[in-house]
Amino acid sequence: MLKGLIPFDEALARLLALGGPLPAEDVPIAEAGGRFMAAGAVARLSQPPADVSAMDGYAIRFAGLPGPFRVIGESAAGRPFGGRAADGEAVRIFTGAHLPDGADTVAVQEDARLSGNELSFPEDGPPHAGAHVRRRGQDFTAGQSLAESGERLTPARLGLLAAGGLAAVSVHRSPRVALLSTGDELVPPGVEPGPGQIIGSNALMLRELLRPFAAVTDLGIVPDQPDLLAAALRSAADFDLLVTVGGASVGDHDLVRPALLAAGAELDFWRVAMQPGKPLMAGRLDHALVCGLPGNPVSAFVCARLFLLPLLRSMGGDPAPHDIYAEAPTLVDLPANGVRRHFMRACLTAAGIMPATSQDSSLMGVLAASNALLVRPEHSDAVKAGTPVPVLNL
Ligand code: AMP
Ligand code: MG
Repeated sequence: MLKGLIPFDEALARLLALGGPLPAEDVPIAEAGGRFMAAGAVARLSQPPADVSAMDGYAIRFAGLPGPFRVIGESAAGRPFGGRAADGEAVRIFTGAHLPDGADTVAVQEDARLSGNELSFPEDGPPHAGAHVRRRGQDFTAGQSLAESGERLTPARLGLLAAGGLAAVSVHRSPRVALLSTGDELVPPGVEPGPGQIIGSNALMLRELLRPFAAVTDLGIVPDQPDLLAAALRSAADFDLLVTVGGASVGDHDLVRPALLAAGAELDFWRVAMQPGKPLMAGRLDHALVCGLPGNPVSAFVCARLFLLPLLRSMGGDPAPHDIYAEAPTLVDLPANGVRRHFMRACLTAAGIMPATSQDSSLMGVLAASNALLVRPEHSDAVKAGTPVPVLNL
C-alpha cells in the first residue's frame, strides 16, 4: 500500500533517534536565553528579600487602628527606614520598600487622610493585619529549585534565575547547523538572476526558521557538480548538523545523495508518506548529522518545520521535542485523505481554520500568507465544515 513510503511518525522517530542531547556547558545567564537546562538550578537569594509593601501608602501596626497615627519617616524602594514604628506611629511607604520594624500592615494612601503629620482613616482602613504586604520569600526562598533539568530558558524563567542571584547556568550546547544549497540555477539573494537562473531563497528562510534552536551558518550555493559538492560536504563535517537543500530526489541532476555517499556518509533515504515534500535523507558524516531537504521552497519549509525543529530541540536538550498539535474547526468541507499525511497551508482565525485554495509546493506566496498547517491524517474520512481538525500553529 505504501509502496516504499514510510509513515511520517516513523520517519520522525528514526530521525530523532539519530540525535541525542549535546554536552552541557556553563553559560552566563545573559547568553543562555532559549537554551535547555542541563541540570537543575537553585536560588541563592530569597525574593522578596524582606517583607515589602505592595502599594504606596503608610506602614502601620494593625492593632493601632482606627488611629490616629503620627508619621515619623519614610521607607522607599532601595532606601529603607532605619528606625522602628512604635504604637501609634506610621511610616510613609512606597511599593517595593521594606516594611519597617514594628509595622505589620500597609494602608493604601487613597484610604488615608494626612493633616500635618497626623494620619487618620475617615472610612475603611486596611481590611486585615498583613494587608498589602509581600512576605519575605513569598516568590521563592534561597535553596529552592528555580529550574529543572530539561526546562527551556524562556524570558520569564531567565528573569526568575536572574532574580535568584544566578550568574551562570549549566545548559546543553546549542546545535551548530550548516546550510548548503545546491543547484546550477541558483544565485544568492541580492544578485540579479541571469537567463535560466532564480534566487536561492531557501537558505535565508531556513536560517530564520531554525535560529531559535540553533547557531546557523549559511555555507552558500554549490553548483550541481559532484566534485564541488563532495568538497563542500566534507568542509561541513565539523558541524553538529549539516542540512542540504535541493538535489534530493532522483533526477539526473540530483547529486546530493551520491555526493554524500562519496564523501563517506552513512545514509538513509526515506520517501516519507507526507505531502508536501516526501523525499528526505538522513544520516551521518563523521561527527555531523546530515539531513537532506527537498528544494521546493514549501517542501523545504514544511520538512524543516516538522523534522528539523524537533531534531534541534532534542539535540539542544529538550526531553519532549515533539510538536503539540491543537484543534480548530475547519471552515470548509474536506475530502477524504489517502496514504500520505497532508500538511495543508492554512489560515487560523478565531472562527476556525481555512486551508489555502492552492496547495502546490512551489507557492511561496501561499506559504507566507499562512499562519498554520491544517493536518489531514493518513486515511482520514471526508469531514464537513465545523468539524475539529488537527492544527499546527506556525
Ligand atoms: P531540486 O530539489 O533541486 O530538484 O529542486 C526543486 C525545485 O526547487 C526546483 O524548482 C529548484 O529550482 C527549486 N529550488 C531548489 N533549491 C532552491 C533554493 N535554495 N531556493 C529556492 N528554490 C530552490
Ligand atoms: Mg536542484
